[in-house]
Amino acid sequence: MLDNNEVLVQVKDLKKHFKVGRKQNLKAVDGVSFDIKLGETLGLVGESGCGKTTCGRTIMGLYDATAGEVFFKGETIHKKSAKDKLALTKKMQIIFQDPYASLNPRMTVGDIICEGIDIHDLYRGKERTIRLHELLDLVGLNHEHASRFPHEFSGGQRQRIGIARALAIEPEFIVCDEPISALDVSIQAQVVNLLIQLQEQLGLTYLFIAHDLSMVKHISDRVGVMYLGHMVELTKSENLYKKPLHPYTQALLSAIPEPDPDYSQSKNRIHLDGEIPSPINPSPGCRFVTRCSYKKEVCHFVTPVIKEVEKEHFVACHLF
Ligand code: SF4
Repeated sequence: MLDNNEVLVQVKDLKKHFKVGRKQNLKAVDGVSFDIKLGETLGLVGESGCGKTTCGRTIMGLYDATAGEVFFKGETIHKKSAKDKLALTKKMQIIFQDPYASLNPRMTVGDIICEGIDIHDLYRGKERTIRLHELLDLVGLNHEHASRFPHEFSGGQRQRIGIARALAIEPEFIVCDEPISALDVSIQAQVVNLLIQLQEQLGLTYLFIAHDLSMVKHISDRVGVMYLGHMVELTKSENLYKKPLHPYTQALLSAIPEPDPDYSQSKNRIHLDGEIPSPINPSPGCRFVTRCSYKKEVCHFVTPVIKEVEKEHFVACHLF
């Protein structure tokens, strides 16, 4: 477990809005702030459409932020020249959700993995081959896989190729954008274990985006929960699973399937009824108000601000 407080990535009031038609804005990320400490894994969870992937991609600079800032080692990552952005991509990499779509089917595995090495002109000839073999070893693939094409591999192996590609230029920070969602359950744990092992070996820092709370538990030091563009709860992993405070987090956790059928039957599942409001020009107030059983008058009009309600436990809810 992580025991340092050095901040590697700082996200300050980040917003990413997309124009829809002439006058409307889809507020995918709408004022999110958090830090990611050096060597930690911060899990980011929420239902599909909550803005977690947009948040990850805006942090990486793949989308321009509408407002707010992201700092990497204290340096802003937005508003940079193309040259400075390229230098920054050496430190920050991304593993994509879909290992089928994210690998170019016409390139060999070796060329896919070495894409970053070639762009940054880090190694050539024999040195490039040595580095490629190191990377294949790191992710548990064989050297002879380098000359094959992506279609010859299973989903889990393709995700290992995606991980090797992300590691090629020795990044310090990796956004793992739902890296296991497209994989069979039996393979998911293998990929998560590989990511944990690589983190220990290489001292990596992860932002791990997922909608599956049970898998996030195994990899994350802290977990942030997003709902319709807002961060609603952020705390240490063990706190979140033992004592979730936000009504939305409680509902998400109650929906995790239990392996023990007796316990599963006795567990109170919280059903979320009510409409999910549109992220296009949302009305003021708590965005969870349409589905919350604890709502009060104020929840309809005043957006709750995220605040520390217990030590290192942040919640955005008028109940606290
Ligand atoms: Fe429910 Fe109100 Fe808390 Fe929102 S602010 S989660 S509506 S109690």
